Amino acid sequence: MYLIIRQEYLSSVIKKAKKSPIEICGLLLGRRGEDTFRVEEVHFITNRLNSPAGFEMDPLEMVRAIDGAEKRGIEVVGIFHSHTRCPPRPSGRDLRGMELWPVVWLIVDRERNYGAYVLRNGRVEKVDVKIV
Ligand code: ZN
Repeated sequence: MYLIIRQEYLSSVIKKAKKSPIEICGLLLGRRGEDTFRVEEVHFITNRLNSPAGFEMDPLEMVRAIDGAEKRGIEVVGIFHSHTRCPPRPSGRDLRGMELWPVVWLIVDRERNYGAYVLRNGRVEKVDVKIV
């Protein structure tokens, strides 16, 4: 499986993660193919936990972003967030979130590392990130 994302989008997420004392988060909007997730928009959402060790997207902002995407004929293909202290791999808390939101989870850290994952049949699988 591939997550296809433009360099400038990935850079914008990493740049914001580097500057933020708390975890940043948001939605990757685009189109799903058979085994591809193509990102067409990156939508930052407020982390209402305001925490360096967890995130929860503001529900109202989420609904607005999803509504807007639907109107433009695109959908949620992924969720992104940052880790401020640990490597960009899903935490226990993230795994619970992945069960609720079975899309690609893109995680970045402040050292420009990143990883993308999906939960399939209860197991975490790595998704290849294709930068275009
Ligand atoms: Zn996390």
